[in-house]
Amino acid sequence: MLILVINCGSSSVKYNLIDTSEEKNLCRGLVERIGAVTSIVKHEPEGGRHTKNTRTIANHSEALQEIMNYLLDTENKIISSPSDIEAVGHRVVHGGEMFKDSVLIDEDVLAAIEQAFDLAPLHNPPNLRGIQAAKKNLPDIPHVAVFDTAFHHSLPNKAFLYGIPNRLYRRYKIRKYGFHGTSHYFVSRQYYKKTGKKAGNTKLITCHLGNGASITAIDGGKSIDTSMGFTPLSGLVMGTRSGDLDPSILFYLIEKEELSLANVHALLNRHSGLLGLSGYASDMRDLIEEASNGDRRCQQAIDVFCYKIKQYIGSYIASMNGCDAIIFTAGIGENSPLIRKRSLEEMSYLGIEVDDTKNDSPDRGAIQKISTDNSKTEVYVIPTNEELVIAIDTAKIAQASDQSPWV
Ligand code: ADP
Repeated sequence: MLILVINCGSSSVKYNLIDTSEEKNLCRGLVERIGAVTSIVKHEPEGGRHTKNTRTIANHSEALQEIMNYLLDTENKIISSPSDIEAVGHRVVHGGEMFKDSVLIDEDVLAAIEQAFDLAPLHNPPNLRGIQAAKKNLPDIPHVAVFDTAFHHSLPNKAFLYGIPNRLYRRYKIRKYGFHGTSHYFVSRQYYKKTGKKAGNTKLITCHLGNGASITAIDGGKSIDTSMGFTPLSGLVMGTRSGDLDPSILFYLIEKEELSLANVHALLNRHSGLLGLSGYASDMRDLIEEASNGDRRCQQAIDVFCYKIKQYIGSYIASMNGCDAIIFTAGIGENSPLIRKRSLEEMSYLGIEVDDTKNDSPDRGAIQKISTDNSKTEVYVIPTNEELVIAIDTAKIAQASDQSPWV
């Protein structure tokens, strides 16, 4: 099936046109700075000429129109009619407690995504705008929502409850939800496929290390714990997000620096993490370069980043009472031998041994085993493909006449 996958941010729309029968990407692109005087529009057809233009795009609906115009342009020869697209898959960040799986979007689903605005104020409102814009442009085909939180629905109570009064969970649903679910799901399934191991008796730790970063413990094919929590702010140190903090720091800061709640929110989400620690950059490539030139703060930022990863891996080995394989994925996880090595160093007590030659050899885009043959726990690099998961789920749901209702 030909599926259009849409991922909307507050001022951006990313898209992929995917043929699920061949699991092949036909075209991808991005409209960013929506609403600004000049928006940037990029299109990257597979095997074709990549383009980058600027123009004014006022809202998400115009962005979708721009994408459709490009795909339909006879010169680009990507599709010849809007009806070539059989369904649209939408990435939705927060599904709350309601969505255990991807679902066909109807009025009730739209209302439920809106109800989760409180839980993900930065993500769910633009996700909903994207759905509305895409429905306007492609009204006659199924639209499916695929949630970042859904794969973590299997977390047991002891992993998702916080140590606060239980009534707060009951009243406000304050609990750990977890994110990056499609990525953790995808790389775990790639591992089972590659090794022939059965999900049922395999214990995995998947490390999604991009600008946002999270680690998940997967036992018997199910997520049993994950580092992000109520929001994507907790867990690992990230590009600009703090990760785990002692909550008292907030009270202290509000008092000392007379910060408003909005200031604290911005401080922890946009000015912390690698950027805050280094005072230089949030991008790992820049940090590695400056650290190699001797910059102490960049070196420290990398130290903290890797130490947190190591701690989470250790704790998840304890949670699962073992681990068959650790998997690295996303921008940093797939591309940085240094970060992989530093995150796993001095773990021979747990039987983890990285093969330096394999870790250093660049085989971009391939699934690679980078542990030694003696390592008790395997270590893999597996490229993620969240868009493909969204496309395949969308195709399945669009095809199923007996679509199961959401719970
Ligand atoms: P996002 O969360 O935005 O999808 P990505 O998965 O694209 O992020 O990851 C972006 C991160 O990957 C950036 O910090 C970038 O510096 C890092 N990265 C990409 N290539 C490399 C590399 N070769 N070495 C180290 N870090 C890299």
